[in-house]
Amino acid sequence: MRNFCVRARIKYIDQIDITEKRILIRVDFNVPLDENRKVADDTRIQRSLPTIKYALDNNAKIILMSHLDSPKGKFKPELTLLPAAEHLSKIIGQEVVMAPDCIGPEVEKLVSEMQPKDILLLENLRFHSEEEKGDKDFGSKLAGLADVYIDDAFGVAHRSHASNVTIVDFFQKFGGGFLMRDEIEYFRKVIGNPERPVIAIIGGAKVSGKLNFLENLIRKVDKIIIGGGMAFTFLKAQGCDVGESLVEDDLIETARRIIDEGRKEKKLYLPVDCVAADKFHPQAATKITPVQKIPSGWMGLDIGPATEKLFSEVLNDAKTIVWNGPMGVFEMDAFSAGTRAMVKMVAESPALTIVGGGDTDVAIHKWNATDKISYISTGGGAFIEILEGRPLPSIKALDQNSRKTNG
Ligand code: AMP
Repeated sequence: MRNFCVRARIKYIDQIDITEKRILIRVDFNVPLDENRKVADDTRIQRSLPTIKYALDNNAKIILMSHLDSPKGKFKPELTLLPAAEHLSKIIGQEVVMAPDCIGPEVEKLVSEMQPKDILLLENLRFHSEEEKGDKDFGSKLAGLADVYIDDAFGVAHRSHASNVTIVDFFQKFGGGFLMRDEIEYFRKVIGNPERPVIAIIGGAKVSGKLNFLENLIRKVDKIIIGGGMAFTFLKAQGCDVGESLVEDDLIETARRIIDEGRKEKKLYLPVDCVAADKFHPQAATKITPVQKIPSGWMGLDIGPATEKLFSEVLNDAKTIVWNGPMGVFEMDAFSAGTRAMVKMVAESPALTIVGGGDTDVAIHKWNATDKISYISTGGGAFIEILEGRPLPSIKALDQNSRKTNG
């Protein structure tokens, strides 16, 4: 498989002089929060620790920036990054100062007072609409805070935003962090020369985000398993009456094309049965039914046991497995069995196993399989696009600028 990232030329933090410098690190602290607004799952913070600790060991002045959720350009107090600052402070054992904003005079003052080894976390970048627009002026204001720029936010590598793409132009010294390096290296190994058969498992609910990807992916992998809400658009395209199940009608044609392509080489595997429910509710009435027989008005919310068996047979000879998206609404116990079974299958497979996407990661944690997966990517969308072979904008920005600066 050819892929842009295999060829990307990027410097990493340990190849750049950061000693006592002001270093601006784009991290991905877009972490889930619980009802008390504390960090519910700190995987993403943990994964950025090697880069932060390296900067500490080199006496840098560390300025961290991230987005949290989707405030759409407005200040929303409930989406402050303060819980992330408090959590980081606890696990790293030193104060993490929370800035009141990510740009502006107050932030500049805080930065000017920083000493080596100080850590400052800027406030949610997406409180400014300019971030998602990739605005130059906003990028230049962020860049004005530091001497060195490090991108360690693989989770947003597929977005062209100010803090991960526009900003790179304003630095002479820039590169990737260790999380970014690990992600790129892992995908290099898999995409460049994967051990075959390669089997992709795709689930979850965002059909529109994943269908185009499937059209490309089907040509690159040996088999594709489709589960979760995704599957029902395909089942409908095959003529099944799927009741009230999640379906994106305008994508049925694309689904049909993917089915035709997959059928030629016996590549595509869809659910044969499902757990149907009379409503989208943890206490809904449920029944296991073939996918052709979902009662009218009901919806499929998990794969059924016959599908589990089919998918386990398909995975039997896998040498490389990539998985994104749960098999059902695993957040509700009644619809979690399929995802749980998939976690077990992937965890027990002797294949190289790579899992990506926030929900899939949560499922892996939930059933304690973290240690049994070869690699868990912090990327959801980025994971999908890198597999698809698309150049990820932030990796491209680092690559192109390093070609410019280094000739
Ligand atoms: P995604 O972000 O696309 O990976 O989607 C993850 C979400 O898909 C999870 O929150 C699941 O609850 C949801 N999901 C999985 N299967 C289904 C289904 N059959 N119907 C509706 N939602 C689903």
